[in-house]
Amino acid sequence: MMFDELDLGRRQRILIVEDVRLNAEILLNVLQDEYDLSVASNGLEALAMVKEQMPDLILLDIVMPEMDGYAVCAELQGNPSTRDIPILFLTALEGDKNEAYGIELGAMDYIRKPFNVPVMKAKIRNHLELKRYKDILKRDSRVDGLTRIPNRRRFDEAYAEECSRATRNRTPLAVLMMDLDLFKAYNDTYGHLQGDDVLKLVAKTLYNTLQRPGDLIARWGGEEFVALLPQTALEGAVQVAERLRLAVYDLQIPHEASSFDQVLTISVGVAASLEGDRCAHDVLLERADKSLYCAKSSGRNRTVAFQP
Ligand code: GH3
Ligand code: MG
Ligand code: MG
Ligand code: MG
Repeated sequence: MMFDELDLGRRQRILIVEDVRLNAEILLNVLQDEYDLSVASNGLEALAMVKEQMPDLILLDIVMPEMDGYAVCAELQGNPSTRDIPILFLTALEGDKNEAYGIELGAMDYIRKPFNVPVMKAKIRNHLELKRYKDILKRDSRVDGLTRIPNRRRFDEAYAEECSRATRNRTPLAVLMMDLDLFKAYNDTYGHLQGDDVLKLVAKTLYNTLQRPGDLIARWGGEEFVALLPQTALEGAVQVAERLRLAVYDLQIPHEASSFDQVLTISVGVAASLEGDRCAHDVLLERADKSLYCAKSSGRNRTVAFQP
């Protein structure tokens, strides 16, 4: 697995939110062998810890001073980045009316006080198992099946995020569009299966050649790849593009039809926005694409930067 944002094999994390220390102690004792635990003793502390730790499940007391469990739940459910964390309410309250209210707010289930340990453990285990499956689905829906690097969907999400960040922080943003040269001829000569192997190798090489943690490379589709370089202006982006182009050339993959030492090459189109230049973000992809077209029509195996 090359692209692994989520370490899905790790022990799962539970955040316990409970203002009565004794209750928190009981939960800690019962759950510590199986899970990584942390405790918040009020609502505000809980919200801060959720952002910091991204737990897999939250055990949430309802009756707490200042900010109660319902308010914490509503806040977490209203935020796209925390909406998928399952919440189980810890409650001594009786009556269906309250239960319905909590479930409407987005909680998954209730755990009653005093705790029935086997029932509680079973509920927690079930919800954590579901959470793990959801994480796997979420990850796989953003990974390209052939090359195992991020796919177009993942790129689109990152691109939208980075555009707003760049505008907010007044930083530049660059996009590279890459396309394998004469790849139809490669398939025709060496067969589609070998073509697939080459796509995998090129994807891995591009992925490993990008060095900064914020950079993203994705398969755009077919034999095309796209890179997103936050906080990078045009000059820096051209340097990265050249590094990627040379990394593919250095693979020395034999390609009869290629006019460059008969090895496989790529062409790259580069576009970058200036600091805080809001409107340019929308057209970055289009500009990178136009530049790629210029790289192709001027002979392939080269990098072309967008010139307005
Ligand atoms: P150019 O240098 O102008 O880009 O020429 P090209 O032949 O690469 O461009 P064209 O768009 O004509 O052909 C793209 C080829 O990429 C056609 C298709 O067979 C191949 N291709 C696209 N996706 C895959 C894939 O998943 N596996 C394999 N083996 N080939 C693919
Ligand atoms: Mg309480
Ligand atoms: Mg193409
Ligand atoms: Mg091509």
